Amino acid sequence: MAPLATGPGNSIEGARRALAARLQSAGIDDAALDARLLVGAALELDLTGMVTQAARQLTREEAVRLEGYAQRRLAHEPVARILGEREFWGLPLRLSDATLVPRPDTETVVERALELFRERTISDRRPCIADIGTGSGAILLALLHEIPEAFGVGTDVSPAALGTARGNAAALGLGGRAAFVACSYAAALAGPFDLIVSNPPYIPSGEIPKLSIEVREHDPHLALDGGNDGYDAYRVLIPQAAERLAPGGALIVEAGQGQAADIATLMTAAALTVDRPAKADLAGIPRAVSAQKMPP
Ligand code: SAM
Ligand code: GLN
Repeated sequence: MAPLATGPGNSIEGARRALAARLQSAGIDDAALDARLLVGAALELDLTGMVTQAARQLTREEAVRLEGYAQRRLAHEPVARILGEREFWGLPLRLSDATLVPRPDTETVVERALELFRERTISDRRPCIADIGTGSGAILLALLHEIPEAFGVGTDVSPAALGTARGNAAALGLGGRAAFVACSYAAALAGPFDLIVSNPPYIPSGEIPKLSIEVREHDPHLALDGGNDGYDAYRVLIPQAAERLAPGGALIVEAGQGQAADIATLMTAAALTVDRPAKADLAGIPRAVSAQKMPP
């Protein structure tokens, strides 16, 4: 068997550095962070453990496990897929083949929602929330975590994704306030809801082959594909949401890059009021588009 570049005979610190260098020379973004996460996972150590045991040698078993992870990352499998887990809004979420890896950009939707609750645009007294296309449950579970009186329902067309979301709700102690329903967008929901959120599929079909390997070969296409122009989901879910909002309720959707203005137009056409600019993500891209259903 060829010697393992990551040990044994390598210290934890040495293995981490060696892996970071290999990932970097293979053109992997965030090589240092990925190396730290993979070493931590292979050795079942948190950051403190890795620091305090930096000089310890890897066992043969640890080195073999780490090399397996390294090979997968070098083949462009995302770290979140290798670990089967990703943090969103500080909450650990399990993933499955049916769920998108939740993105930090999507936290902008949670931020906009909390802004509306804080300003009392929507009441935080027992609010009823729907998350359309919930995937791992990321947005819904972040909101239920932040708003202790809230109750929420997540929908998805993928029963497997709903199973993952249910497991995440239970693991986070939020299962008693969350329900999950298999349907297309909001079709099976009656409402009224105080808040409807969604990060729908929005990539134009023709753009999918141009995405990174990490996304196009590892995220489910059902979670990405927004049809010819990318707006198929918005055209269905915005009118559905407008019908199901309580008077005074709000809709917040994630927008792909360059989509915010057209989404606002679809919201206005559904008789919703877009009363503030979209909230930008950390890269400055308008990401969370929101609108209110004005009381009659
Ligand atoms: N909300 C999760 C997040 O932000 O990480 C997942 C978002 S992912 C971009 C879109 C989700 O919509 C996927 O889970 C996908 O299965 C689901 N989806 C696709 N078409 C749908 C439809 N017609 N009705 C309901 N959900 C759908
Ligand atoms: N934000 C994801 C990406 O660009 C796409 C998710 C979506 O279509 N909503 O990879």
